[in-house]
Amino acid sequence: MRDITKPATDGGSSGWDDVGGLNDIRNAIKEMIELPSRFPNVFAQAPLRMRSNVLLYGPPGCGKTHIVGAVVAACSLRFISVKGPELLNKYIGASEQAVRDIFSKAAAAAPCLLFFDEFDSIAPKRGHDNTGVTDRVVNQFLTELDGVEVLTGVFVFAATSRPDLLDAALLRPGRLDRLLFCDFPSQQERLDILKVLSRKLPMASDVDLERVSHMTEEFSGADLQALLSDAQLEAVHELLDSKNGGSTNGEMPVITSAVLKSIASKA
Ligand code: ATP
Repeated sequence: MRDITKPATDGGSSGWDDVGGLNDIRNAIKEMIELPSRFPNVFAQAPLRMRSNVLLYGPPGCGKTHIVGAVVAACSLRFISVKGPELLNKYIGASEQAVRDIFSKAAAAAPCLLFFDEFDSIAPKRGHDNTGVTDRVVNQFLTELDGVEVLTGVFVFAATSRPDLLDAALLRPGRLDRLLFCDFPSQQERLDILKVLSRKLPMASDVDLERVSHMTEEFSGADLQALLSDAQLEAVHELLDSKNGGSTNGEMPVITSAVLKSIASKA
């Protein structure tokens, strides 16, 4: 469990600027979290319970976990992050208690974002587990989620690439009822992601990210990250080769257009 009981300024995401594309998701989350903190009095007078729980779903590598880091940083929230399998393995025999404890911890740390990654592994459909452990865990989740709302200052986010495996009761109104789909990025989104990820990378002036974004159809954000990382390694080799074993004198490895295009076309 990653537990940050002070606002996240730990060198992770620096906020929305680190996210390329995903504009609809970003706007939905901003409205849900930022509005109530800017206008708490108005929300205190709103009689209907406001939704504060989100399920992010979509193919692997498409930014579900990444956007959570950005939310935490942008909204200065405390952050408790739990990976699904970790919760079941670490607390064998006491998993429901662990769920209770995590929600209490989040309430004590409010304003806090409580994040369950790989949620399908802890909250699968009930009735299929001979030991009954996951069924009890799901029941506990239902109880805890019923107690969470905007005014408690706890935002529960969960992520999965297999929403079809989740117990349907978790997705009923009032629980994880804001469903946000992180799909493969469009060409424009790939360009945005490439710009964000390459912000700190030395690039030759001939690099045309727009061209790369057209060459990388069906790439996820994680694939684009891997592409840049491979290009950077290639640039390191080129620099070392050009020095023939001699000193690089602090020269930076620069990514060239040729390298980037060659790696993109092979992927
Ligand atoms: P999984 O289902 O496998 O957990 P995921 O959807 O949670 O995948 P992330 O871990 O969020 O995927 O993304 C992997 C990496 O890809 C991130 O660390 C980031 O570097 C990059 N990335 C993905 N999407 C984006 C994006 N929209 N903007 C910037 N970087 C992104």
